[in-house]
Amino acid sequence: MVRGEWQERVQEQAVAEAWAELVATARRTADEGLVVGTSGNVSVRVGDLVLVTPSGVPYERLRPQDAIAVDLDGRQTLGELAPTSELPLHLAVYRSTDARAVVHTHAVHATAVSTLVDELPPIHYMTAALGGVVRVAPYALYGSAELAENMLVALRDRTGCLLQNHGTVTYGATLTQAYDRTAQLEWMSHLWLTANSLPGRAPRLLSEGELLEVGEKLKGYGQSPAGPADPARPAFEDERP
Ligand code: 13P
Ligand code: ZN
Repeated sequence: MVRGEWQERVQEQAVAEAWAELVATARRTADEGLVVGTSGNVSVRVGDLVLVTPSGVPYERLRPQDAIAVDLDGRQTLGELAPTSELPLHLAVYRSTDARAVVHTHAVHATAVSTLVDELPPIHYMTAALGGVVRVAPYALYGSAELAENMLVALRDRTGCLLQNHGTVTYGATLTQAYDRTAQLEWMSHLWLTANSLPGRAPRLLSEGELLEVGEKLKGYGQSPAGPADPARPAFEDERP
């Protein structure tokens, strides 16, 4: 096989794998109640291409041959279906950040919060996992360049924001990370609405200093890639003899 053909095969394989993961993530947004019907959209970057969900097609209907790719200028390079109407929003994130994946939903608690305040009050330390207090981008028509612009301002130094009277946008280094950030944002929105619902009582919020401290600590959260420090200590409970 000549070099060019081989590279093409590698690219095709990468696109097929990324599409399968994108469809699984999009289905998860519906299965876990973050969207209803054909609301929301998901994208993932493969080199200079961006794979995106189609506009107005239920995720359970998507097949491997339905993959849609556009370049960073939005020109469609793969697929017959029309890309999501929020293409300007997804491309704006890729052009302005190091994102490899973007998730947009209409999660109910997060969307409710977007109609009440200009930012989600820092009620929980996971605020720091999104880069700080999550802002609300002012309302603009869905799919518009104005919405993408408003979102970019709200996203500055953050990996997620709310879209007023509309929903959520988060991004990450992987589809899993982008999805998990959406789930955390929705969970924190639910938490704030719950804590804030007692008449005459206002929830305690975290200070800027407390959030910065969490941000530092989260850098070392979870399992270190090198595995457990003590080789005699198993990494997982079920590996114990
Ligand atoms: P699409 O079906 O075009 O992706 O639109 C859904 C949506 O959430 C628009 O904001
Ligand atoms: Zn939407």
